[in-house]
Amino acid sequence: MGGPPEGAGPHCGPGYHGGVLKYLTAYSPTLQAKVQTLVDEGRLAEVLRARYGGVHDVRSDAALYDYTLELKNRHLRNASPVSKVAYDNKLKVIQHALGTHTTVSRVQGTKLKAKREIRIASLFRQTPPEFLKMIVVHELAHLKEREHDKAFYALCEHMEPAYHQIEFDLRMYLTQLDLSDEPVFTA
Ligand SMILES: [Zn+2]
Repeated sequence: MGGPPEGAGPHCGPGYHGGVLKYLTAYSPTLQAKVQTLVDEGRLAEVLRARYGGVHDVRSDAALYDYTLELKNRHLRNASPVSKVAYDNKLKVIQHALGTHTTVSRVQGTKLKAKREIRIASLFRQTPPEFLKMIVVHELAHLKEREHDKAFYALCEHMEPAYHQIEFDLRMYLTQLDLSDEPVFTA
């Protein structure tokens, strides 16, 4: 009941967009069909584990701050300063591409100074290092580019050449997390 009719193609039917591939709707029907096959065969977690190893050790907010600042200093030295970086367990996973960047205005003496804060969804605390780097790169790129446009993604790729592949794999990972409570990656 409520699912796509028998024999419907993978990219039509009401069950599709709100279904297990909700994280992958921006990709081509061909790619989505490939992932759907992995889901149907119960092989998604296995494919992810074959592509990525263990989890990173950037566990605390302090470690995350250092990690983020190191990347910023290497690639975006002149961008606005970042005042705070933290894991946030209240962050809805896919809301604004998985992280948030906010500008907090504080009066310092007589001049108003904009400080940037970066929050990373807590699920990234226990992922392969590639996923963490991808999301931090995404948030850092927003220091310079507000919109998700060409310039934005060029900056992401400058910091992480495999950005697009990793984002796709991360979305497969999120798909798997919705399907099963079993951890995909372990320390
Ligand atoms: Zn974004």
